[in-house]
Amino acid sequence: MKTPKDHALFRAERDALAFLGLLSSLYLRFDPPISSPIGNQSQPTHFHGLNVHALVIDNADGEVLALEQNQIHAHQSPVEHGEQRVLRAAIARVGEKRPRGSATTVEDYYRSQLFYGDGLEEADFLNEGATIYTTLEPCPMCATTILVCRVKRAVFLLQDHTYGGAWITIKKTFYDKYNLTYGQLDLSNAKSPLIQRAHDINRAIGQKVENLHGQNVIDTLFFDHLAGDLQVAFQFFCGVTVGDLATKGAHNTANSRTLRDLKRMCNVPAANSVQSQARRPLRSALAFARWPYVSMARFSCSYVLNGAARSRRCTLAPRACGMAKSISQMSPQNTVFGNRVKSPLNTRLIASKYAPRLR
Ligand SMILES: [Zn+2]
Repeated sequence: MKTPKDHALFRAERDALAFLGLLSSLYLRFDPPISSPIGNQSQPTHFHGLNVHALVIDNADGEVLALEQNQIHAHQSPVEHGEQRVLRAAIARVGEKRPRGSATTVEDYYRSQLFYGDGLEEADFLNEGATIYTTLEPCPMCATTILVCRVKRAVFLLQDHTYGGAWITIKKTFYDKYNLTYGQLDLSNAKSPLIQRAHDINRAIGQKVENLHGQNVIDTLFFDHLAGDLQVAFQFFCGVTVGDLATKGAHNTANSRTLRDLKRMCNVPAANSVQSQARRPLRSALAFARWPYVSMARFSCSYVLNGAARSRRCTLAPRACGMAKSISQMSPQNTVFGNRVKSPLNTRLIASKYAPRLR
């Protein structure tokens, strides 16, 4: 039987992991502000979009369903907010993971089975439906989308004094019958060394944000000024292992999954975790064994990648050809990828892409 204290630890640990994962994602994909060359220095632009990231966790098992970032500039579209993108990706993932049964209507599926659960207890908000985490409080468009999707729990890192606050009004007006929760990240109630460190980083960021506020920096640009804090969070996150989790039993299983998924999505090795230590020698052996195989694919199938007729140039077994073919389908930039295949260094890259197939 889990006590309220167990649930508080579970919640704070999951929130701390999401916090560190989001800041690591921001650090790794940081979009430096670009001052306008035509004089408007008050509103810098960015290559991809604003430095706002979001992720969705499946409360049932701790899986990170999706991790996305604001891409308004890359897509030249005002609706490509991180929350919009992450919810679309998470819907696709849940559709794969828990497809709608033939006895369930489409409406019932997205209202009650996608990201929602009926429960009212604190434990229900951690075990039912999904949680969306965002680095900045959602704007009115995203607050509405979160409610339309009936996301059980929404947590934001920094308050947005300009565009925030809409969730509460819209919930009360249109979605009051649903058991949903919304609020700013709070790591102060439960303690473990991991949570405490995340709490300290969060508090340092909070103090800097107060200063930025005093300098009239607008809320959507806060993270442009916090690159140093993002690096601190990322470096700490790199060293976090499953052994650092203080939860027990099912809570530990769920949070371990969250940690592993976040590290994979941020391309951070799961350093010193029990699983990675155990699998490392096996992975090295497999990498060595597949080397000649991939080298053969490199010489024969680069023609396939470059668009030449496969039947005239390729002499490899169908399995190897199939692999090269799937590289060419992997990206719309397949010509670039096809050129890259000629470099021995990039053959390693391809070997890593092929790893799951070769096993
Ligand atoms: Zn938004």
